[in-house]
Amino acid sequence: MAYTSKNVTTRKFDVVIVGAGGSGMRASLQLSLAGLNVAVLSKVFPTRSHTVAAQGGIGASLGNMSEDNWHYHFYDTVKGGDWLGDQDAIEFMCREAPKVVYELEHFGMPFDRNPDGTIYQRPFGGHTANYGEKPVQRACAAADRTGHAMLHTLYQQNVRAKTSFFVEWMALDLIRDAEGDVVGVTALEMETGDLHVLHAKTVLLATGGAGRIFQASTNAFINTGDGMGMAARAGIPLQDMEFWQFHPTGVAGAGVLLTEGCRGEGAILLNSNGERFMERYAPTLKDLAPRDFVSRSMDQEIKEGRGCGPNKDYVLLKLDHLGAETIHKRLPSVYEIGVNFANVDITREPIPVVPTIHYQMGGIPTNIHGQVVLQRNGSHVDPLNGLYAVGECSCVSVHGANRLGTNSLLDLLVFGKAAGNHIVDYASKTKAHKPLPANAADFSLERLNKLESRAKGEYSQDVANDIRATMQAHAGVFRSQASMDEGVKKIAAIRERIGSIELKDKSAVFNTARIEALEVENLIEVAQATMVSAAARKECRGAHTVDDYERPADDPVAPLGRNDAEWMKHTLWYAEGSRLDYKPVQMKPLTVETVPPKVRTF
Ligand SMILES: Cc1cc2nc3c(=O)[nH]c(=O)nc-3n(C[C@H](O)[C@H](O)[C@H](O)COP(=O)(O)OP(=O)(O)OC[C@H]3O[C@@H](n4cnc5c(N)ncnc54)[C@H](O)[C@@H]3O)c2cc1C
Repeated sequence: MAYTSKNVTTRKFDVVIVGAGGSGMRASLQLSLAGLNVAVLSKVFPTRSHTVAAQGGIGASLGNMSEDNWHYHFYDTVKGGDWLGDQDAIEFMCREAPKVVYELEHFGMPFDRNPDGTIYQRPFGGHTANYGEKPVQRACAAADRTGHAMLHTLYQQNVRAKTSFFVEWMALDLIRDAEGDVVGVTALEMETGDLHVLHAKTVLLATGGAGRIFQASTNAFINTGDGMGMAARAGIPLQDMEFWQFHPTGVAGAGVLLTEGCRGEGAILLNSNGERFMERYAPTLKDLAPRDFVSRSMDQEIKEGRGCGPNKDYVLLKLDHLGAETIHKRLPSVYEIGVNFANVDITREPIPVVPTIHYQMGGIPTNIHGQVVLQRNGSHVDPLNGLYAVGECSCVSVHGANRLGTNSLLDLLVFGKAAGNHIVDYASKTKAHKPLPANAADFSLERLNKLESRAKGEYSQDVANDIRATMQAHAGVFRSQASMDEGVKKIAAIRERIGSIELKDKSAVFNTARIEALEVENLIEVAQATMVSAAARKECRGAHTVDDYERPADDPVAPLGRNDAEWMKHTLWYAEGSRLDYKPVQMKPLTVETVPPKVRTF
């Protein structure tokens, strides 16, 4: 079909939110409750967003089961992120945490309970009491289906607050006016194949992560980084994209996640000698050290020949000593995943696991109100009018170079709410919409028509598979400078092929081939941002571990290669010319003292 501006319809809202995951729906709830006219777009039914897959818990220092306070949580998050997180944003998040969790409880969230009626909390990697002394119980959990419970709770509250959902609508591009302000988005209605313009005073991106740029991933198939692609095409930089988290316990061969809550409940990792090897690498926290640490330790065991199985290419997660009763009560989904994806009964035998891509620490740069910030007027923190971003697609930055488990669900709640409040405040002062530019839909029309008119070319999924294979090979747990440099060239070459993708099926109605081809245009932005940012960072920090800058062989896990003098700064990648820039880390918290950098041991 040919797209023309004549058959583009325009609708008007106070706020358009792209994404109905935990972050988008926490923000939309705040807006609908304040009486604003809100449209929430989603590629899938809201409760199928990836937040539904979150298992382990939400971090908040409630102190229900062991002594805790937000200062400890703040310290753990700064250290867990290897001093790349902005300490003002981290303080804000950790202080707000108990408040947003109790709010969620009052919205009807079915948390597990202690005998005294308080919310059940389990230990999680990198979360400690008394500044690293011992593990703390901080993860508020609903069995191992915390994200499921949270997303359904938020959806129900949004239905009650009369939020308008546009289900199976895919946002394509941001609309910026002559002054550069964001005044709306274009979107494709999947059912009909029609293009629409959504005109808004404010647009909020909450499109989640892009784990699908890698081959082996715990992420849903819809996690293709669309919000970041939209931002990159609109000239907005992506921040800290070199930092990708590998989760230590993906099911070997399947990629499906086994929550860190397993180890929180007492599961342990074993090598082929039956040894609990984490005792060697992290004497205090052992299996509950942060994820970058545990993933590197696992890879090191495998590299040194102590992997399990015929190819010695995985390690084992042992849970049977927890007892069948605890497993069925606290980890029912993990039990099912074991049976369905590995043919293993975890109440009886250990399950094969490998580090698997899980989470992106980087994203669209924002401040603590969720406003997208740009480099203007000599500063990197100038808010862009009309655009906000929250959740995994954003970079506030609270996770720095390595996120602690449970801090993402928390980030969705804290910054979803904060952005909602800020937008309500802005809307109350701004009566009129800025006008739409005359050419509002042209850029998207051109993109669509290029796809429609191309007669001979490549299948989009062949290009997508090459992106995934390249990222897996050149941006893994352990990286090397030579391999990353080669990855940069390969991704640039794949980018050239995007322009020759052909749509074999050009039908209008629910054409998933068209959707997938458009998604590949987002994957490539995220992949190139990652590869170029990674190759430029000449140090080890958090999840970015480069052999060339590593610690001597007697201690291969803790990255000595961190170079605070030159590299304690955020990366900014711009699509145009694939150019890099940098900005300083905010070391000053809001009210407390800075946590000064030191070597990370656990
Ligand atoms: C298996 C798994 C387990 C996890 N467990 C935990 C945990 O226990 N604790 C924790 O803190 N974190 C956990 N995480 C991380 C956390 O769940 C995610 O970071 C978080 O849920 C992301 O939420 P979000 O709101 O940013 O986006 P998502 O929940 O991913 O939602 C994105 C939304 O954007 C929509 N969208 C995307 N592109 C478009 C487009 N172009 N047009 C329209 N809509 C679009 C989608 O349809 C969807 O509604 C886990 C992650 C995974 C993958």
